[in-house]
Amino acid sequence: MIKVRELRKSYGKHEVLKGIDCTIHQGEVVVVIGPSGSGKSTFLRCLNRLEEPSSGEIMFEGRPVVEKQSELNSIRQKMGMVFQHFNLFPHMNVMENLTLAPRKLKKLSRASSEELAIGLLKAVGLEDKKHAYPNSLSGGQKQRIAIARSLAMEPDVILFDEPTSALDPEMVGEVLDVMKGLARRGMTMVIVTHEMGFAREVGDRLLFMDGGKIVEEGKPRDIFEKPGHPRTKEFLSKVL
Ligand code: ADP
Ligand code: MG
Repeated sequence: MIKVRELRKSYGKHEVLKGIDCTIHQGEVVVVIGPSGSGKSTFLRCLNRLEEPSSGEIMFEGRPVVEKQSELNSIRQKMGMVFQHFNLFPHMNVMENLTLAPRKLKKLSRASSEELAIGLLKAVGLEDKKHAYPNSLSGGQKQRIAIARSLAMEPDVILFDEPTSALDPEMVGEVLDVMKGLARRGMTMVIVTHEMGFAREVGDRLLFMDGGKIVEEGKPRDIFEKPGHPRTKEFLSKVL
């Protein structure tokens, strides 16, 4: 579904991604771990061109992710993204947050976009919140709404950048449960997270990034039990 070759990204003289190669298959849950500053967010943001790669190639569903604006829009519709800080529209209620993009970009009618939204709210267990504004929701509820909003565009893959890092501990589980449900239904997901239990349980493949490179990848269980690279070993000894 996504094929990345020799991806590099620099900010000025600082090279943050130093040649990333990776393939993400349909239905796969790929978990990305690594120390702060290793380039995890930059990698995700290059995939959907929130950041402009300095060089390299990204193919999505067989087509290059190029800079042409028209194609960018269609790529971003098919590649959802969920952020650490939710990024809901604060001046819109939940229903408006969920229906805006489907109406504007998919040209759905108000009625069908609302029907879609209700179904998604049920799926994330927040049907009773459709008239609520984001600032009245808990962090866990905001993140579940953000996931529902991403699903409203019927993406082929969802990129998650530390979706539970800003949450109080008691709310982490409800968000991970929604993500587990998506995994069970075969959604392709790339997830940057520090939740190692989740990574082990749900991840089909683990990528360990350090210093702008993928240092090690494999089945989460294998890597947790027997890290092959000293840097992976050192990182895991701190977080496990
Ligand atoms: P991670 O998500 O793994 O913590 P990031 O991808 O956010 O890492 O950042 C990798 C490196 O790139 C860090 O050194 C960070 O300071 C730098 N960086 C990220 N975004 C920018 C930016 N917009 N301008 C300059 N440097 C940046
Ligand atoms: Mg990050």
